Amino acid sequence: MTDRVGVVVVSHSAALADAVVALARQMVDDDPPPIAVAAGTDDGGLGTDAMAVHAAIEEVASPAGVIVLMDLGSAVMSTETALEFLDDPPGPIRLVAAPIVEGTVAAVVQAALGSDLDTVVREAARALDAKRDHLGEAPGTDGHDQHAPVERSSRASAGDGDDGDDGDDGDDQPDAREEVIVVNRDGFHARPAAALVRAATGRDARVTLANLDGDAAPVRADSLSAVAGLDARAGTRLAVAAHGPGAADAVADVVALVRGGFGEPLADGAAPDSAGGDTGAPGAEPEEDAPWPDWAPRRASQVVVLAPGRAVGPAVRVARGEASPTTPDAAGGDVEAEVSRLRDAATAVAKDLDSRAEQAPDDTTRDVLAATAMLARDPDLLDAATSQVRDGTTAGTAIRRATDEVATTFRRAGGRLAGRQRDVEDIRDRVLAMLAGHDGAALPDRDEPFVLLADDLAPVDAAGLDPATCLALVVRTGTPTSHTAVIARARGIPAIAVGDRIDDVPDGATVLVDADAARFTVDPDEGATDPATRRIAPTFDGTGRTADDHRVALLANVGGPDDVAAAVDAGAEGVGLLRTELLFLGRTTPPPMEEQTATYRDLFAPLGDRRIVVRTLDAGSDKPLPFVTDADEPNPALGVRGIRTTRFDPRLLDTQLAAIARAADEVAADVVVMAPMVATVDEAELFAAAAASHGLEAGVMVETPAAALMADRLLDHVAFLSVGTNDLAQYTLAADRLDGRLADLTDPWQPTVLDLVGRTAAAATARGRPVGVCGEAAGDPALAVVLVGAGVTSLSMVPRAIPAVAAALATVPLDRARELATAARAATSAHEARSLVRDEVPLPPAT
Ligand code: PEP
Ligand code: MG
Repeated sequence: MTDRVGVVVVSHSAALADAVVALARQMVDDDPPPIAVAAGTDDGGLGTDAMAVHAAIEEVASPAGVIVLMDLGSAVMSTETALEFLDDPPGPIRLVAAPIVEGTVAAVVQAALGSDLDTVVREAARALDAKRDHLGEAPGTDGHDQHAPVERSSRASAGDGDDGDDGDDGDDQPDAREEVIVVNRDGFHARPAAALVRAATGRDARVTLANLDGDAAPVRADSLSAVAGLDARAGTRLAVAAHGPGAADAVADVVALVRGGFGEPLADGAAPDSAGGDTGAPGAEPEEDAPWPDWAPRRASQVVVLAPGRAVGPAVRVARGEASPTTPDAAGGDVEAEVSRLRDAATAVAKDLDSRAEQAPDDTTRDVLAATAMLARDPDLLDAATSQVRDGTTAGTAIRRATDEVATTFRRAGGRLAGRQRDVEDIRDRVLAMLAGHDGAALPDRDEPFVLLADDLAPVDAAGLDPATCLALVVRTGTPTSHTAVIARARGIPAIAVGDRIDDVPDGATVLVDADAARFTVDPDEGATDPATRRIAPTFDGTGRTADDHRVALLANVGGPDDVAAAVDAGAEGVGLLRTELLFLGRTTPPPMEEQTATYRDLFAPLGDRRIVVRTLDAGSDKPLPFVTDADEPNPALGVRGIRTTRFDPRLLDTQLAAIARAADEVAADVVVMAPMVATVDEAELFAAAAASHGLEAGVMVETPAAALMADRLLDHVAFLSVGTNDLAQYTLAADRLDGRLADLTDPWQPTVLDLVGRTAAAATARGRPVGVCGEAAGDPALAVVLVGAGVTSLSMVPRAIPAVAAALATVPLDRARELATAARAATSAHEARSLVRDEVPLPPAT
C-alpha cells in the first residue's frame, strides 16, 4: 500500500491516549495506519510536551500527510509549538478540533482505508454527528475549525455526490439491493461500523445503507460517521443497496457481514448466518426454557482462585457501595457551583487515593492506587462530566455518565484495559459517595478476625483490608488479573470468586476459604475450624529443605526496591526472578544505560552475596511497550514478545545486559541473566552469546511447551533453566492468562503443565544442571511439594509466600514428594491433581 495518512493523538493523559488508540486500533485490527501518541509527562504525570508531539508527528509523517487530534487547551498549544520546529515535513500536517475519542476512531478507520488527508479530516470533524443525531441535537456548529469544514454526514450524504463519482442520489433504482436484520447484540457500535465501512470501500460500486425501522433515508456505507449514525441496533431491519458494476458483490459482502454478526456476541435468540437465508434474528423464538444439559458444568459452582492461602472464620458481608445516580443538587441550581462541587469531589477522591498510595504497604498496592488516583484526575473525564453539568445535569448524574462511557470503552477494548473497567467504576462510586457527603468506606471495622464477603470489591478497598483481621476475601465474580486479586496476593489475603454461592452464606456463618484447593465450604467440619488452620505465620530459617533434608533453594521474585526489602526480610536465599519491566513501563523511549545501571545497582546492593537471577526485558503480550512492541499485533501473546523482540532490534537487549553487568561489578553482586519466552535452541544460543559478550552467565525461562520438550538441547547453550508456569500454562492449554473466564485452564495444577515441568526437570537433572520454577505455582505450598517431587531444584516466589512454602516442604520427605508428583502428573484434571495432593500434605496456613 502506498503511504497512508498518519494519525497523532496528543493528550494530557498517557492512559487516556493509549485507551483511545487501543479502541481505534480495534476497528482496524488487521491493517492500521501509522499512529503515534504524545501524551503525559516523562515522569508519568499529566501534561503535554511540544517535543513529544514533534517526535510523534515525525514518526508518522509521510507525503500522505498527518492528522493531529488533541485534547485540552495546552495540548493545542504544544502541538502548535511542535509545528514551528518541524523542518520541511514530507506532507501536510492538519490539526483538527474533533473530539478526541470519536475523532481518533474516525480518522484511524478512514486513514486505514487509504483515504486522502481531506477525507480523513472531514470524517474526523464530523465524528460527533452520529451521537448528535441519536440524541436529537442540532448538527454541531461548534468544535470545527478552519482545518475541518463541517459536513453533515448522514442523511444527506448518500446523495451528495461529493466525490463526484456515480452521483447516486438514493432515488435511482439501485443495481442491487437486499434487506438484512442486525443480529449482533450491541448493534452498529464503532467496531462493526468500521468493519462495514471497510467492506464498502474501494468497490466498483457506491454502497448505501438505510434503516428501515428508522427514517429509511439511505446513507453512504463508506463513511464511519454515516454508518454509526444509522442507529442500527439488534433487530433493526436494514436495506443494503449499491449502484455500479460491482453492486451485486458489494451488497452480498455487506449483507454477509451483517448476518454473520461481525463475530460479536449475538442478541438473545439470534444466530449468525454468513451464508444468508433465515437470519435467526431477534424475534425468533428464544429457547429460554430449554433445560441445561446434564453433562454441562455449572459455571456458578466453580471457584476461581484469586489469591492463594487458606483461612476459616465468620462471614461478614459488605454490600457494594450504593451510589445514587441522583445525588442531591446541593448547589441549588447554580451551575458553576455544581461544577465546583463535582471538581472538588473528584479532587478529594484523587487526594485520598494519593495518600493511600503513599501509605501502601508494598510496591504493588502503591502502583495500583497511584494509577487509580490518576484516573480521578483525568482531564478528559472531568471535562466530559463538567460539560454535562453545564448542560443542566446534576454533578452525580454527570460523573456517572462520563465514567460509564470510559468504562464501556475499556470493556470493549478488551485485554488488560478491560480489567481496568472496575477501576473506573470505583472512581465513579467514590466521587458519588463524596458528593453525597460520606467517604464511601463500607468495610467492616472489627477487631475480631473475619472472612469478608463482597459482591465485588474495588481495588482501593482491597488495599484497605488489614490482613491481621481480614482472614480471606470471597467475591461473587473476579479474575486473577484484576487489581483486586493483584492486591490480595500482594497483601497475603487468600481470595476466591464463588459466583452465586455467595448468596447462600448466612451472615456470621463459619466459612472455610481454601484457595489452595479451590474450595469454599460453609459450616465446615470441626477439623477445619481448628485454630491450627487459621492463618498463622510460619517462620523460615533461611534454608529450604524437605523433611529428609533434601535441599531446595527458596528464592524471591522481585520487581522493585520494596520487593527487595521484603525478600531480605523473608530470609530469601536469593532472587530467582528479578523482573525488569518496571524500569521500562510507562515510558515512550528506553531508559538510557546510566539510568538502568543506577537502578540495577540499587536493587542488587541490599541483596549482599545472594545470587540474583535477572530476567531481561519481557516486553510484549501482557507487558506491551510502545518503543518495542507493535500495538497492532493481532495475537500479542503469540507475537513478538520476550526474546523475540531482538529479531527486530538487538540493541535494547545489549544495552540492558551492559547495564546489568556494570551494576553487578560496581556492587560485587552475584548476578546471572535469563531470557524470557524462549521457544527454540537458536534463541537460547543467541541469548547465551549476548550474555557472554558482557561476561554474564545465561539461563533461559521455560515458558513454552517447545522449550520444555527440548530442555536438554537448550542446556547445550545455557547454564540453567527456570520454568515460568504462568506462561507455560497459557501456552500449553492455549488459554489467555488474562481471561478470567478461562482461569480453570491456566491453572498450574493442570496435569499437562506439571508433566512438562517434570520433563524439563528430568532433562536438567540428567545434566546435573539447576532448574527452578519462578511462576506463581512456586508460591503455592502444596504445589511446591509436587514441583520438588518432579525434580526442580529451586522455587522462586513472592517473598511473603516463602515461610508457608518452607513449612510445607519441611513436612514431606523427598520420596513422598516424588510419589505425589507422579500421581499429580497422572491425574485427569487440575481439580483431581490438587485434591489428591491436598488430601495428603499437611499444609501449614498461608501467611
Ligand atoms: C511466568 O510466566 O511464569 C513468569 C514468571 O513470567 P511473567 O509472569 O512475568 O510472565
Ligand atoms: Mg512469563
